Amino acid sequence: MIKKFFDKDDQQLIAKLAEHYRAIIELIGEDPDREGLLKTPERAAKALIENTMGYSQDAEAVVRSAIFEHPGSEIVVVKDIEFYSLCEHHILPFFGTVSIGYIPDGSIVGLSKLARVVETYARRLQVQERMTDEICQLLTRVLSSQGVIVVAKAQHMCMMMRGVEKQHSATVTMQYSGAFQDVNMRAEFFRMLEAQK
Ligand SMILES: [Zn+2]
Repeated sequence: MIKKFFDKDDQQLIAKLAEHYRAIIELIGEDPDREGLLKTPERAAKALIENTMGYSQDAEAVVRSAIFEHPGSEIVVVKDIEFYSLCEHHILPFFGTVSIGYIPDGSIVGLSKLARVVETYARRLQVQERMTDEICQLLTRVLSSQGVIVVAKAQHMCMMMRGVEKQHSATVTMQYSGAFQDVNMRAEFFRMLEAQK
């Protein structure tokens, strides 16, 4: 994987990206010197850097920083972690929620870290299927658990704006490992999600 470690205050990077945005604005027939657009290249550059900050974040370190011993083995469910990502085919937003379940096997992870993990994988050029898979793989690898399940539900601007999809339909993706290969365990996870409504 290409690792880019950039800083959101990196002026050189902002200037370079802004130059490209200026060219794009011209190419679509707009006037980059029009008053409303004067600062747009720089703002767009900063927004892109922010929305792809995941490349410079280490999800594994995030999880490792907050693992606590835990004797229980009852399923832990965190529902509806909001995320915002960019589809790698059109560089348009897709966004929604991720719900995570795992069965502790000796330890648990701080709940806020799960949200950070989601953000790390969301803030890149992504496809929803891979994002779901990457979150599941990372947690499976780093947490000591009997199994992990990740469900993502999202709306894709590239489909909504182009009218490919009915405007309010959502795409749902799921990945699981370990004990969640058992259909009954998955059913238990979904029951717990329902119960949290
Ligand atoms: Zn797309």
